[in-house]
Order: sequence, then C-alpha cells, then structure tokens
Amino acid sequence: MAAPGKVAAFRLPPLPTVGEIIKLFRLKALKQLSQNFLLDLRLTDKIVKQAGELKNAHVCEVGPGPGGITRSILSAGVEQLLLIEKDARFIPGLQMLSEAAPGKVRIVHGDILTYKMEKAFPKHLKKNWEDEPPDIHIIGNLPFSVSTPLIIKWLENVSKQDGPFIYGRTQMTLTFQKEVGERLTANPGSNQRSRLSIMAQHLCTVENCFVIPGQAFVPKPEVDVAVVHFTPLVQPKIQQPFELVEKVVRSVFQFRRKYCFRGIETLFPENGRLKRTEQLMMTADVDPTLRPFQLSMSQFKKLCNAYRKMCDEDPSLFVFDYREELRQKKTTGNLLGSTGQPEQT
Ligand code: SAM
Repeated sequence: MAAPGKVAAFRLPPLPTVGEIIKLFRLKALKQLSQNFLLDLRLTDKIVKQAGELKNAHVCEVGPGPGGITRSILSAGVEQLLLIEKDARFIPGLQMLSEAAPGKVRIVHGDILTYKMEKAFPKHLKKNWEDEPPDIHIIGNLPFSVSTPLIIKWLENVSKQDGPFIYGRTQMTLTFQKEVGERLTANPGSNQRSRLSIMAQHLCTVENCFVIPGQAFVPKPEVDVAVVHFTPLVQPKIQQPFELVEKVVRSVFQFRRKYCFRGIETLFPENGRLKRTEQLMMTADVDPTLRPFQLSMSQFKKLCNAYRKMCDEDPSLFVFDYREELRQKKTTGNLLGSTGQPEQT
C-alpha cells in the first residue's frame, strides 16, 4: 500500500484556473465521450496524494483533459510528467501548463489503449520485479468505458511483466465507477465479489482509497467515483498463465448465483462433462456447492492448478470454447428443424 505522499513540493507560476482554461479554450465536456472534469484542486491534490511520494518521480497521467490533476502532479515536484490525451481540444491548455513547468512535461495526443507504454520512460528507471516498485506512477481519471478495459489490459501486462510493467512493479492510481471500485476490492462472500476481484487481487495489492461524490465533477455524472490504488505483487497469488486464470475465473462466474460447479462444467466439452467436472472439483478439493462469490483466492488457485493439470494431460481442453459449442448446437438444431430431422430443401 502506498504511503500517501505530500503535494506542493513545486510551485507553479500564477495561471488561469482550470475553470478559466475550460472557458478560454471552449472545452465543453462531450457527453458522448463521458467527459467529467474535476475543478477543485483540493480534490485533485487528494487523488494525487494516494499515489505516494512523487518528488522526483516519473509520472504518466492518462486523460488529463483540462489539467486539474495535472496541476496537482506538477505541484508534487515530479521529475517528468507524460500526458496522454485523446481529445485534441485539450492540447493547447496542456501546452500552457507545460510552459509553466519548463522541461518537465511531455504531451502525447494519442489513445492510451494503443499507446506503447514499454517505451514511455527512461531505461535507467527499470527495477527488478522483486525489488521495491520503480519511481514510476500511472495516474488517471478516465471515462468508465475506458478505465475498465484498460485495467484488464494492464492486469494482463502485470502478469506478463510487459507494457508499463517492463520497468518493474509500476504503481497505478485510477478512478472507476464506485461499484467497479467495490468489485476490484471485494472479499469472499461479498455481493460485489466478481471476476474483476479475483483478476485484480491475484496480481496486485488493491486499495479502494476513497469515494468522490458525483457532484464534485462538472458536469455531474450519474454515479459516484472510486479512487483505487494498485501495486503489483512480487508473487501472483495464482501462478498460472493469465489466459488460463482468466478462463477459469470467467467460467466460474458465468452462473453467479448457482453452485460453482455449474460454471466449472462449461470448461469441458459435452462429452464427458460431468465426469471431468467431478475430477476437477476433487483434485482441487473445493466444495462444488459453494457459490462463485463465496470462493476464496486459495480455492481459485487450486481450481486453476487442477485445470492446468488436466490441460497438460489433454491439450485440446484449453482451446475448448463453451459458447462456440452452444452456437454449433444451435446451428445444427436449426438445420434439423423442429422435428429433429434435416429440413427438406
Ligand atoms: N483528468 C481530467 C479531470 O479529472 O478533470 C479529465 C477527466 S475526463 C473523465 C477523461 C479524460 O480522458 C478526457 O480528457 C478524455 O478526452 C480523455 N480520454 C478518454 N479516452 C481516452 C483514451 N482512450 N486515451 C487517452 N485519453 C482519453
């Protein structure tokens, strides 16, 4: 867990306020891009503090928009700040901030979903995975439609130690819809326990820092917002490839309210499904009548390990796709018609 850092280690020269920048450059929030801005610098300072000590750090801010969080990051005394913004309208306002902090800011007009983070920072900042996290931080208040796919992509990068994690255990402080924040940190038995809880917690220490009420944003979103901090773990809780863990966890949560064996069944082809499900549950020593949200991390680990063993014995298992089987059955059923006989053409 990051110790909250100090803000105001660097004083920016007098600048127009974030609100004035919005007016000056006519930066009306675009509803279709889910743009909601933070204008209150006490709040942006509070978000930035969650990242930990940023003095002399290298930071990437994703989606800086009109630059509220950007100002707080600069005030924390960072060495370098990389800004990645998709909407070109914000670039002139960000350039104004860059001029106020000479030599510190690099602005990229681009999409964080495709930006190559493995080249974003100087090589000398690299740390071994087992060492303390590098002095690199990712901070962002992105639209919810971007932050959830992005964290899934970054969790895969954590697992493979690539992307932003080529530098070591890079820490992230990101915002999510409040419910997603709750899912990311949910414990076994909790209503919010989901695929996201397992995928995040098996790879990272995840901390739900605080909630920002919707009314703090301009314009006000429909929901409240959670600030979540991630530090990749030295040792993932489940030591199996990302794709395998993802497949087991996705299958288990497919039937959230049913006994967990219902989801686990979908890992296996129809022929021999019951027998193989029983075999997996027995090897993993997991009670098949537990509900998916009741399973602990160590039970997921045992399920993944047992599934891996079965895949090693029969490599065709891993490529089996339950939905594809359903689609094919549907197509065959349609061809056979309602009588179960092939239709006359
Ligand atoms: N950080 C600012 C703040 O807190 O006031 C703006 C927040 S607004 C919710 C999200 C910002 O992310 C917008 O500036 C938007 O243009 C930008 N954005 C959206 N999708 C993006 C993407 N894929 N890559 C980079 N920036 C993106």
